Amino acid sequence: MKKILAMLLAFVMVFSIGCGKQDNKNKPDENGTEPKTENQIKNGTYKGSADGRGGEITVEVTIEDDVITAIEVVKQNETPGLDTAMNTLTSEILEKNTLDLDVVSGATITSNAFLEAVTNALKTANATPDMLKKIDVSDTTVKKEDVTETHDIVVVGAGGAGFCAAIEAKAAGADVIILEKLPLAGGNTLISGAEYAAAGNWLQEKEGIKDSPELHAEDMMKGGDNINDPELVKVVTENALAGAEWLRDEIGVVWEDELMQFGGHSVKRSLVPKGASGREIISKQLKKAEEMNIPVLLETKATELITDDNGKVIGVKAEGKDKNYTFNTNKAVIITTGGFGSNLEMRVKYNPEIDEKILSTNSPGSTGDGIVMAEKVGAALVDMEYIQTYPICDPLTGTLLYFDDARLYGYTVIVNKEGKRFVEELGRRDVMSMAIKAQTGSVCYELMDQKAYEESHLEENHSAEIDYLFKNKLLVKADTLEEAAAFFDIDVDEFKKTVANYNKYVKDGKDPEFNKRSLPSTIETAPFYIVKAVPAVHHTMGGIKINTNAQVINTDGKVIEGLYAAGEVTGGIHGTNRLGSDALADITVFGRIAGQNASK
Ligand code: ADP
Repeated sequence: MKKILAMLLAFVMVFSIGCGKQDNKNKPDENGTEPKTENQIKNGTYKGSADGRGGEITVEVTIEDDVITAIEVVKQNETPGLDTAMNTLTSEILEKNTLDLDVVSGATITSNAFLEAVTNALKTANATPDMLKKIDVSDTTVKKEDVTETHDIVVVGAGGAGFCAAIEAKAAGADVIILEKLPLAGGNTLISGAEYAAAGNWLQEKEGIKDSPELHAEDMMKGGDNINDPELVKVVTENALAGAEWLRDEIGVVWEDELMQFGGHSVKRSLVPKGASGREIISKQLKKAEEMNIPVLLETKATELITDDNGKVIGVKAEGKDKNYTFNTNKAVIITTGGFGSNLEMRVKYNPEIDEKILSTNSPGSTGDGIVMAEKVGAALVDMEYIQTYPICDPLTGTLLYFDDARLYGYTVIVNKEGKRFVEELGRRDVMSMAIKAQTGSVCYELMDQKAYEESHLEENHSAEIDYLFKNKLLVKADTLEEAAAFFDIDVDEFKKTVANYNKYVKDGKDPEFNKRSLPSTIETAPFYIVKAVPAVHHTMGGIKINTNAQVINTDGKVIEGLYAAGEVTGGIHGTNRLGSDALADITVFGRIAGQNASK
């Protein structure tokens, strides 16, 4: 177990894995003299590179007798968490001696770049992957071992909610284990911006912003069209600040010194984690879990809850890579498996409009497993039809674009192909998404100037994404508005008129067209940037019904003993529509409550 955690914590290090000798005696010498060999590939250590999500990945590959015996990653800057995909692939390559492997789910770009870098290393040896010795791995396929273990609590899903639950349960003295079906922890939390709405926080105090949990609750209810469960909303808003402080003081999460205001929030109340990314939350939670000796079992998928004759949950079954587990629980199972945004079939079942034409920002782990498992033991489901799309996503992959951070500071204008604004840029996500879907080509164009670019720290926080956008012609930087608009074939005259009007609204402090709620700055400092974007599925509001103790409620309205749920897997908290930065508050507050109560 320790080994697994150690692997996960290998994030920031340049790591080296291999079973062979790094110092190969058959390596070509300084003079380039090659040893005599009958092999197809010359023995040696070769370097290769390829571009990942965070820039160049460089590997050194050692080959002995047509077998890859070691791979050392000498340079990489992938997202912590996603970089573990390279460990997984290295193990597979060393075991099977082939590059014909599936990508690690959840880390497609990193996986592909890593495999390409290894292929490029072979190229420098004038070799191709098919020259590697074929190894028959069929004999080594062992039958899965059946394993039975007993723990006080099993947490299913290693995302933000799961870690909060496990850490609290362990702190209360329970023996806890976390199961995670993917080869990496983090889920949607890892790939999110992880901003956190907390009324009455220390930065609001400093800035003199008046706020209260009641006002936050009103915003959540309004944003969710008042179908949210007000009791659950109250729990989130009243405990949000304590949750953010707990993350800061107990878990070591660093919050930036600046607040953000997301659509639908009536004041600036959202804390921003370091780097404006969920990696700050997940990496610190992983570290804490390791310090507390909480095992995280990766590639272990929970498949079924176990109940006794009275319907009480007494364990969970799971499939590991080489083991079939039965986990018995003394106290409880806590489901924190996230939403179902990556499960097309389930999306369409509950809302036919969210079909294959809509991409997804979600982790591939968000397939609704926990919802299905809980439903089988009688859990009630709520609000399943409400599926949120995020307005500003990559038109090629559906990934949420952090370039959009500038919008949340109020700096941007969004136009259509005709060069016209069509929606309030700080409006609700669902309203904006549907408005974009209705425009020419179902796309939008977001404009900002150099001042906005700098003040939103885009280069500091998201430079890899910016490189990617430029490379794929989804982002333009130009000295004039005309040039920027022409790049995307936007109606230049209309566009210029739109920007001139907008600048006037900023000066007047009032936007008569769309009533934009924050107008901090005109758009006039060259160079100008335009990003092209589409909406994609972002969050599933519906899920398992819980009470204020995070206990799961059955279809008769009664508590299912031994079963708790927290995070995106639950329903009822956000109504029809979740406001930005309310998810982190929700998963932290209810994750902690689930862990505390389950351990009693
Ligand atoms: P939340 O924000 O509610 O914490 P996340 O999406 O961040 O949700 O995390 C949910 C985690 O649960 C993901 O890492 C996902 O891969 C994991 N998961 C989903 N289904 C299963 C399952 N059947 N068994 C184990 N882990 C699962």
